[in-house]
Amino acid sequence: MSSSKRVVEATPQISISSVKDFVSQRNSVVQLSLTNSIGNQSPYFAKTTTTKCYFGGTRPWFECNLCSKRAGNLYLNENGTDLFCRVCSNLRYRSQGFSGSSRLLMMAFDADERAEAVFKGPQRVKFLYKGRPTKRFKRFLKYRQKAERLSRIFTN
Ligand SMILES: [Zn+2]
Repeated sequence: MSSSKRVVEATPQISISSVKDFVSQRNSVVQLSLTNSIGNQSPYFAKTTTTKCYFGGTRPWFECNLCSKRAGNLYLNENGTDLFCRVCSNLRYRSQGFSGSSRLLMMAFDADERAEAVFKGPQRVKFLYKGRPTKRFKRFLKYRQKAERLSRIFTN
């Protein structure tokens, strides 16, 4: 067991949703670039795959270079040489390092951060589509509700 203290929230990462327009069956390897702390961009290559959705269409995934499992996010490894899934990168969520009420508090922070992260990124955000909440907006609400549920434990 490694005693790595690296946490998901503080690790450079890339989500499949940010490259999904480049994923195709014909060309399953995408080139990614992450900007490091001194502003240099390094290219990384990641394999991708797709699964069929229940209601039609396909959902894109990364394929981890190490374990070959499907992953929605890839994380920069400690040496900054490659991108791996969360398990292979030996990352944990920040809240996993705490116990009791501090753990709940960190979970509330995490949920809040994730809600915020839903709307980060280059795309223009649509809250409604044909009068119904978009998937993105629903995801935001889910995290917001979780954060609220958790924060109620502290304020009551
Ligand atoms: Zn992996």
